[in-house]
Amino acid sequence: MNKIDSARKKAELIINNKIYIPKDIKLSYPMDRSTAGPTSGSLSITLTFANKNVKLAISQDQNECFSLQKENDKFHILKDKKIFLENVEITPILFHAPRQAFINLDDRCIYSCAFCNLSKQGFLQEYDAEKFVKLILKASNRSDFQAVALTSGVYPDNTEIIKKMCYILKNVKEKLPNIPIGVEPCISNKKEILVLKKAGADEIKINLQIPDRDLFGKICPDFCYDDVLNILKEAVRLFGKGKVTSNIIYGLGESDRSVIKTIEKLAEIGVVPTLRKVRINELNKKKLEEIISYKSPNISVDRILRIAHGHKKMLEKYCLTTKTFETMCLKCGCCDIVPFWDV
Ligand code: SF4
Ligand code: SF4
Repeated sequence: MNKIDSARKKAELIINNKIYIPKDIKLSYPMDRSTAGPTSGSLSITLTFANKNVKLAISQDQNECFSLQKENDKFHILKDKKIFLENVEITPILFHAPRQAFINLDDRCIYSCAFCNLSKQGFLQEYDAEKFVKLILKASNRSDFQAVALTSGVYPDNTEIIKKMCYILKNVKEKLPNIPIGVEPCISNKKEILVLKKAGADEIKINLQIPDRDLFGKICPDFCYDDVLNILKEAVRLFGKGKVTSNIIYGLGESDRSVIKTIEKLAEIGVVPTLRKVRINELNKKKLEEIISYKSPNISVDRILRIAHGHKKMLEKYCLTTKTFETMCLKCGCCDIVPFWDV
């Protein structure tokens, strides 16, 4: 299968975001339950085909569009009961992502970004920083361990989360100095970026989230668009070009032009954006549609691919690539069409 066809198939799977697995199929690896990211709160499986990873929530619905089939020890994906992809692999997850111990420090958040899929179940309350360090060090014994990443909701406040991240960074770096560590914090003042860098972070993701300025104000009311851009500039100064990324979520009624303009705005200052199609589910649908005052639009495979190609072109224009990242989403690739990997 060529790169164009496999990217198209991946985009179709991303749009559906779910797969049915018949009960008689025994999986070689346990399913993952993420507390962050597009499959947050659901059991999920990671599948690999044509060097592409895709993570899908497990559906209980036998009539789901996509289902998994096992035949003579090989796995295939069916679409409407017909072969869609042959010989897919089931990829083991370390924590949340393949080959990464990607830890969410808190699944609670004091902020209220309307698209947010954080599970908000409070699953992680009993974990303190020391416990997370132990978990990561234990995971480092696995042969597929290659990287560490830390994300978090903001709870009880940002100072506490930055402190927790720094404690984990210092203790993990001390024992595993050669392992890349990425962090995805909320930054409330620029000094926190230096503190994280000094504690041992190699890569950083500071999320702008919504490309369109007007939509941003409605969807992320606790944040300021220009502040995030200024914080990203400082992050590039400290971490370097190709080591700073920022989530851009599209599919809420903005134009392609607005998405591409925002990619350029970030690329110009040395940031490599992570482009993500919004995932609408029962956790965020009502709130989002109330805020934007229209039904969330369907997103086509063509639009996902068009944006991915535009993303790649813009990165090339500013001599950036996604391949400089060793941690987090640009390396994992499970939820998005990632330029230079997938297209
Ligand atoms: S800051 Fe916004 S996107 Fe991040 S966890 Fe909190 S509510 Fe979700
Ligand atoms: S792409 Fe990002 S959000 Fe999705 S599974 Fe990978 S690390 Fe998690």
